[in-house]
Amino acid sequence: MRQGSADLHVHTSFSDGLHRPADVVEMAKSAGLTWIGITDHDAVGGIGEALEAAERLGVGCVPGVELSVDYRGQDFHILGYWIDPENGALRELLGEILESRSRRADRIISRLHAMGVRITLEEIRKQMTGPRYIGRPHIAQALMARGDVQTFPEAFVRYIGRDAPAYVPKEPLEPSEALAVIRGAGGVPVMAHPGAYRMDGAFRVFLSEGLAGLETDHPKHSVEQQASFRRLAQQHDLVMTGGSDFHGRGVSDAVVGGVTVDARVLDELAARKDSKR
Ligand code: AMP
Ligand code: ZN
Ligand code: FE
Ligand code: FE
Repeated sequence: MRQGSADLHVHTSFSDGLHRPADVVEMAKSAGLTWIGITDHDAVGGIGEALEAAERLGVGCVPGVELSVDYRGQDFHILGYWIDPENGALRELLGEILESRSRRADRIISRLHAMGVRITLEEIRKQMTGPRYIGRPHIAQALMARGDVQTFPEAFVRYIGRDAPAYVPKEPLEPSEALAVIRGAGGVPVMAHPGAYRMDGAFRVFLSEGLAGLETDHPKHSVEQQASFRRLAQQHDLVMTGGSDFHGRGVSDAVVGGVTVDARVLDELAARKDSKR
């Protein structure tokens, strides 16, 4: 059984995190963790560097990914643990998602232009940390850098948030496809930060598609939410996971190791490989 404590939700510069994979592994080491899970949005490019650093520093590293899945217009984040980052179908899907994100950024720029905000792709690119991943946080940073808004949240309220005029949704990825690709890559699907959604019928759908875990422990969950998600996980025989959702110093209050779970959770996840579908 694996020993010690694990932070199973960490972003790097290969999606919208500020720090290189090797640096977040160093942070895990300094925080006294025995394991770290690398879970970039729609990207696995940072895993090689993280594994190398982990080996060098004597920390365990779980390869993971965080996919954005659409169910009836709502964005659900699904974590995949123990995925093979070299898996062909996974890489193909991630390539399509990155291209789709790039097309979406162009459409958001057009809408901003229509509102009189003459932002350029170059200005947004300057905010990107990774080679290809482009998301609304980068656009928000660029709007701040230009002085169009004073704060990060203001960019969402006035321009690119769900109910704002320059909002463009992502091209939808279906729950069935996301979970099948994670499973196909040897991974174990876990619903991230359930406190962020209106669950309605969605939870049943994800369960029927082979969901294996629930991220019960997350910085944005209240004590009451955590308790209720733990009950829910127990009821449905789901592995209870947790992590800090670290993006970088200054992006939020999260730090690597800010939320941890017992490393034995990784044994429980490993035991769920290929258990369904
Ligand atoms: P994207 O995947 O490109 O749609 O970007 C989603 C990310 O944008 C989220 O993970 C948050 O970091 C950020 N975000 C979305 N809505 C808001 C909001 N209303 N205020 C602040 N940040 C937001
Ligand atoms: Zn993020
Ligand atoms: Fe998320
Ligand atoms: Fe995340």
